Amino acid sequence: MFDSLSDRLTDTFDKLRGKGKLTEDDINVAMREIRMALLEADVNFRVVKDFVARCKQRCLTADILSSLTPAQNVVKVVLDELTELLGSSESKLTLMQNRTPNVIMLVGLQGSGKTTAAAKLAYMLKKQGRSPELAACDTHRPAAADQLETLGGEIGVPVYRGDGKDAVAIAGQAVRDAIDHLRDVVIVDTAGRLQIDELMMQEAVDIKRAVKPDQVLMVVDAMTGQDIVNVVTEFAERTDFDGVIMSKLDGDARGGGALSVRAVTGKPIKFVSMGEKPDSLEVFHPDRMAKRILGMGDVVGIIETAQANADAAAAEDAERMLREGFTMDDMLAQMRQIRKMGGVGKILGMLPGGDKALRQMGGDNTEEQMRSIESIIYSMTKEERARPKTINGMRRARIARGSGHSVQEVNQLMKQWGEMNKMMGKIRGMMGPGSNRKQQKRQLQQMMKNMGM
Ligand code: GDP
Repeated sequence: MFDSLSDRLTDTFDKLRGKGKLTEDDINVAMREIRMALLEADVNFRVVKDFVARCKQRCLTADILSSLTPAQNVVKVVLDELTELLGSSESKLTLMQNRTPNVIMLVGLQGSGKTTAAAKLAYMLKKQGRSPELAACDTHRPAAADQLETLGGEIGVPVYRGDGKDAVAIAGQAVRDAIDHLRDVVIVDTAGRLQIDELMMQEAVDIKRAVKPDQVLMVVDAMTGQDIVNVVTEFAERTDFDGVIMSKLDGDARGGGALSVRAVTGKPIKFVSMGEKPDSLEVFHPDRMAKRILGMGDVVGIIETAQANADAAAAEDAERMLREGFTMDDMLAQMRQIRKMGGVGKILGMLPGGDKALRQMGGDNTEEQMRSIESIIYSMTKEERARPKTINGMRRARIARGSGHSVQEVNQLMKQWGEMNKMMGKIRGMMGPGSNRKQQKRQLQQMMKNMGM
């Protein structure tokens, strides 16, 4: 989802990046590209028009931060506006504590994912310590109640089916059943049709009137194209739903519908569903989604994961290097590590200060340069690698001959090691004397975090 939109938008920003100053023409070109990208992603044309107009106005007025480059300013404006388009902040599912039970009613077209969403929501609430009950009020699709019962069985949530005929009656009975069994939330699954249908709408309205739900949520299939606008508008008018569960966000649709819903109906997206399993429902965060669309969310995510995995190991390594000295083998391992990071390395390069740190650690060496560094290091004896300070002029000449390199190249590598070793020395100096290994490791982790590593 959103992949091609994401690619198009990042391409546009990349083109702006090299420019020191942006002219009105540059902005116009960028805005045209953003407009095309959104239209091709199936975002409603009126939504696109407003969106681009707002972005353009902000880019052309003085609403610009001096701490950012012109290109970064444009990215920021688009990010802000996209976040706003998606609803600005998280819209919580508010359940009353004093009213037992809360009733949540789901509406939407057939196949939108209503029945599975009912189970997913029940599962989420159960994990939060609630005791939900599911009401099978989709009496039109023959297998719907069975499907709900199976899902309920999987997640350990009771399903009320009643006589399986009168949806309005079943909804009312389910609420009474929940009261009898001290259940605090009833989730009502209702019937959908393939298209908007008067009978279906009337039934939803009748159920709503009968059980007075605390929340009506519309389940919307994110794969729906332009038609989504008509569907959600109609449902908004008839059922006055409170929020949206956007389903099938794991699919490969262009995602325009998901981007249009909020602007068209004014109703927030409360949850997104990213798969068929009961645990695939997530609270929707507009800011994270906007970042993801602009190719930033993933960056943050990747760095967070890489950091979580690497922090402990890196601190362990660093701690040993401090204790035993920084060897040639360490240097090679560090360089290899940075290279292996590939995508993450590139991302690091985009962070403030990251570029320099990366270069110092050999991150911009080509594979060929790496091989040549490796061959020089492997021409050293084991003792030389462990104690590089012992490598004098004569040894350098021997290493150069052995690895098929010039003495200058060996000297350069020694210099690089010298600099990295100095850096290690500084870090050692910053650490409190006499601190034990555990304390040192913690200090190092903190230090690496401070340095943005
Ligand atoms: P209903 O007719 O609205 O009740 O729709 P269902 O709940 O039966 O869902 C229709 C189909 O979509 C089922 O095969 C679901 O497993 C599938 N589905 C629902 N939500 C998602 C989702 O978030 N991701 C994916 N990949 N499939 C989903």
